[in-house]
Amino acid sequence: MRTLGLIGGMSAESTTVYYQTLTRLVRERLGGLHSAQLVLWSVDFAPIAELQAKDDWDATGREMADAARRLEAAGAQAILICANTMHLNAPQVEAAVGAPLIHIADATAQALKARGVTNALLLATRFTMEKRFYRERLEAAGLGVLTPEKADRDRLHAIIYDELVLGVISEASRAEVLAMIEKGRAAGADGIIFGCTEIGLLLDPAEMPLSTVDTAIAHCEAAVEFALS
Ligand code: GLU
Repeated sequence: MRTLGLIGGMSAESTTVYYQTLTRLVRERLGGLHSAQLVLWSVDFAPIAELQAKDDWDATGREMADAARRLEAAGAQAILICANTMHLNAPQVEAAVGAPLIHIADATAQALKARGVTNALLLATRFTMEKRFYRERLEAAGLGVLTPEKADRDRLHAIIYDELVLGVISEASRAEVLAMIEKGRAAGADGIIFGCTEIGLLLDPAEMPLSTVDTAIAHCEAAVEFALS
């Protein structure tokens, strides 16, 4: 089995999901006492989130590259950035190490296509919804991408940073995100992307009105394919 290197802590709430999912998927594939072989570098999210808010992506890129180097030195044969937003620094990570980066948007595109989705509603941080780095990767894979309107994008960003990354799950926020999904459906979306690794803590993909990809899970599935190939 190949060793996975996880850049985690962004947030710790969803890195827990990665650990549980990776270990479970390997056990399901190999049976018995098998489990994923992995190295985790978990960052302190507070300074990273401050740099994000300042739009200092050079500084976050240095942090991500440093984490990837540490993981490779510890034996990682592939790198996972356990968040969507920080894939903005995918180029810096790829330049820093020889191990391949398993890109969350590629794993997501593959999972969307497997479900027959052609035009997906992207629910994510403001960075992921509004900057080009994520959307263009999905569009290059032939997918259409919709995002909520500005006021809803701002509200979703606040739900992520003020609640979900802190482990706060609110019924009121759940209802608000469901309303955003209904608007997306009315606007022509035929699928949903939980494009922030914490959204799966708030909503169950199986209960959504449209085919839904939880990026944290799709990312883990792609990583396990790599680990066992
Ligand atoms: N985990 C989140 C994501 O998938 C948001 C936190 C972050 O900015 O890293 O984008």
